[in-house]
Amino acid sequence: MTAPHILLVEDEPAIRDALAYTLGSEGFRTTTAGTLHEAQALLAETSPDLIVLDVGLPDGSGFDALRQWRKTAEIPVLFLTARAGEIDRVVGLELGADDYVTKPFSPREVAARIRAILRRTVKPAATKPGATGLVIDSDRHLATLDGRPLDLSRQELRILQILHDQPGVVFSRSRLLDLAWDDPGNAFERTVDSHIKALRNALRTIRPDSEPIRTVRGEGYALADDFR
Ligand code: CA
Repeated sequence: MTAPHILLVEDEPAIRDALAYTLGSEGFRTTTAGTLHEAQALLAETSPDLIVLDVGLPDGSGFDALRQWRKTAEIPVLFLTARAGEIDRVVGLELGADDYVTKPFSPREVAARIRAILRRTVKPAATKPGATGLVIDSDRHLATLDGRPLDLSRQELRILQILHDQPGVVFSRSRLLDLAWDDPGNAFERTVDSHIKALRNALRTIRPDSEPIRTVRGEGYALADDFR
């Protein structure tokens, strides 16, 4: 496997250099930017696997940048935050960030978080045009059923991936929370129910008469054995 490519956007040189050094020594290929303007150009040129994004940058906020980028690309983002107020926004506004660390942080901790995000999101590309059955391409955050794209949130895609990896296995709500959420402490078990409902609806939009996800009363959910 080639080294994952990280775009590191941070305006404080000391932090940027220390982090770039550690990421390099931990096997990542790193490109750095000190402003959003620079990052924007590098994003278009280099198609990184993940962005480490400082919130407070000289030419704007990392939040606004992410909102903008998310319109065209589903690239994983790890935020570097400096203040409690910023953390609230990452967690509360559901910006679609994959994780965050608070300054001051240890560069090795950041590397570990990056590896965890990439493990969750990068899988061999599997989506083929005209494919039949359920195909999940976590790398591009896409899923198709019988060749048609499923309209899913990131969370729903993760749940589907978990169920799909072990068809027939029953996952409790709390287990799904642990596996599919970055910070399960902020989510409720009933949130799992509403995502399952949305998943079922999306799958049934394409296969109206199917029963894709079984509810096992008192236990949890499983992808039906015969749903492929
Ligand atoms: Ca900054």
